[in-house]
Parts: sequence; C-alpha cells; structure tokens
Amino acid sequence: MRTSKPKARELVSPRVKLFTDSVIREMTRLAAVHGAINMAQGYPDFAAPSVLKAAAARAVREDYNQYEITWGSTELRAAIAEKARRFNGIQATGEDNVTVTCGATEAMVATMLALTDSDDEVIVPEPFYECYLPSAIISGARVRHVQLKGPGFGFDEEELKRAFSGRGGRKPKAIIINTPNNPTGRVFSRSELGLLADLCADNGVLAITDEIYEQIVYDGAKHVSLATLGDMADATVTISGASKTYSVTGWRIGYTVAEKRLTEAIRKVHDFLTVCAPSPLQRAALTAYSLPESYYTSLTRSYTRKRDYLMKSLEAMGFDCLKPQGAYYILADFRAVWKGDDVSFAEHMVKDGGVAMVPASSFFSTPGLGKKQVRLAFPKQDRTLREAVERMRKRVG
Ligand code: PLP
Repeated sequence: MRTSKPKARELVSPRVKLFTDSVIREMTRLAAVHGAINMAQGYPDFAAPSVLKAAAARAVREDYNQYEITWGSTELRAAIAEKARRFNGIQATGEDNVTVTCGATEAMVATMLALTDSDDEVIVPEPFYECYLPSAIISGARVRHVQLKGPGFGFDEEELKRAFSGRGGRKPKAIIINTPNNPTGRVFSRSELGLLADLCADNGVLAITDEIYEQIVYDGAKHVSLATLGDMADATVTISGASKTYSVTGWRIGYTVAEKRLTEAIRKVHDFLTVCAPSPLQRAALTAYSLPESYYTSLTRSYTRKRDYLMKSLEAMGFDCLKPQGAYYILADFRAVWKGDDVSFAEHMVKDGGVAMVPASSFFSTPGLGKKQVRLAFPKQDRTLREAVERMRKRVG
C-alpha cells in the first residue's frame, strides 16, 4: 500500500531551514528587477585586468580544460605558498599546506566541515560576513557571538575571555576572524590580533581567518595574518583568494593555508564538495600571483579615491559613517535621513531610489542590532558611483 505522497517542505533537511537565503544576493536580484545600481553585492562593475583575461583565454586554448589535481595545480599551490611567505610572513609549501578551493566561500565551508564537529562551539564576532553562519550550521557547530563594539568596532577583552572559557567545562573549538573586516571596514591591529592569538593558544582554540581583503587597506594600515603571531602557526587556517584582489569574483579561485594534518583533512572534504577549482582559471591565476608591486599600489590608490568620494557624499547627505580602514564597504547610519528601520530604508532605496544596498541587520544574529545602518559596496566605476550618489541625493539629500 502506498503511503501518502511526501510534501516537498517535509523533504527539506531541518538543518537547511536554520539559515536564510543570502540577503546580499537577494538585494542583487531586487536591483535587477527595479533597474537599480547594485551597491549591495561586493563585486566590481569595471573590467578585470587585461593580462588576466588574456591568460584565462590562453589557458582554455592551450587545453587546461580537464580536472586539475583536486587540491590545486602544483604550480598554483607553489605560487600561493610563495605569496604566503612573502606577503603574509607565513611559512608554507604548496605540497603540504595549500589547498585551492572554489573561492574563499568553499574554503570556509570545507574548513568548518573538516575541522569542527557536531556541537563544537565556534566564536563568531558580530557583525559578521554572512557565510559564516551557514558554514557553522552545515557542519553542525554551534555559534557563540562576541560583539565588535561601536563606534570603532573593537573587541571587548572581558567578553572575549568569557567566550574563550567556554560553556559547561567545554572550550570552544574555533574562532572565525575576518580582517580586513566586512562589513565594518576594520583592519585589526597587531595588538588586537596578538590578544586573540594568546587566547587561542592558551585555550587550544583553532583560528580560522578570512583575509580575502588583505590587499585592500587604506591610509597606511597594515594587514597582519594571525598565523604569524605567538604560537598560532600550526593552529590557524588562513583563507584568502583571487576574487577581490584581482577583480575576478566569478573565477572562484580561493585557498586555505594550514598545517599539514589540517590541510589533509580540508583536502579530503574539498575533494568531495567540488573536486577542483576551474582548471583554466587556476592556470590564469598564476599570472595574477606574479603581477608586479605596482599593481597593488594602484589598486589601493583607486579604492582610496572611491572610498573618499563615497564617504564625503554620504556624510554631506546626513549619513553617519565609520571610515573604513580596509575592504570596500561603508556602513552608513541613516538615522538623520530616514525614520524607519534598515529593511524599510533598503527597500525604499532599491524600489524608489534606484540604488541597492544591504540592510545591516543581516550582518547580526542578535535581534535589534544593525537596524539603523545599511552597507554600501564601492568597487564601482567612478561614473557608477557618481550616478548612485545623484540618485540617493534626490531621495534623501
Ligand atoms: N569573505 C568575505 C569577508 C567576503 O566579503 C566575501 C565576498 O564578499 C567572501 C569571503 C567571498 O569570497 P569568494 O568570492 O572568494 O568566495
């Protein structure tokens, strides 16, 4: 006898019901529906560097079109290890420590699946980039937040110590640190990261660092990799990738750098998640990792100009903004120009104002936080930024 037909909703895993679709990508969909300028999602609307496009086309022509070695081509892993030594000060080899993934996003999920288990606690500073929660939930880990406190979004040492002491005699398994930080724009200082490194080492906690914006820092700020501090070399998974530095977010080239046994575990998971990152784009990424120093200088100069223009324009309209030290977002407090909450303001702006932005409450789990802020992404052509500012002025200026 047939039992009743299953309802589709009942077939969905309870785990998946614990997180929502990406609010950032939802705002991108709304931007398309309403013909709005997309200041919501963090990707450039300008061309990728010509040398990289030529390298990608060449790689396809030269037939780098089949599966790569699952954890990344030998050459790309060697290039990333060299970059990790030179730029980050992390001692790594391509053979033992580097895994190439489909973006930093897959790197994070693969790391969490490989290194955390059901009911492990993971500390996530709040506000946070939105993929950290689904990564934890998919792995079965429980999230404990610590607050980055405004106006400067720094750590509260006492709160950190409480979080590291764990619950019921059980220490947390890991902490996720994102520097330069999305959405706050903070670049954590050597002393802030030193405190975190000490707390990790004292409590046997793994650090998972998302350093995807490591090359986008302003006003002489220095990016520091936590893996280089204290005793953290063997207890840190450093995540980064090509998306933001080389303006190729669609290439899906990311990586982890970690101690050999941690790397072996990450590689195992990565293999069965995606097999490998796109082969021709791994080949092309070799050109990215060999660009001269002048590339990075002009990247910083160009983003500094865009940041300064948008900051000045937003402040002139009455927004209250924290000047980002790194990454390419401005978190703007709209209290002076809009009485409602962040969702109503973002909806109004995308439908009636022609500019899409992200309601900041989506970067928090704690109810009530972020209700008076929106996040604007500025990796856009100067004329796109000018047009976005013009449109916003008409609504709020
Ligand atoms: N990490 C942070 C903090 C981000 O802001 C983003 C994209 O916006 C990502 C990771 C995603 O990186 P990828 O394109 O390499 O998956």
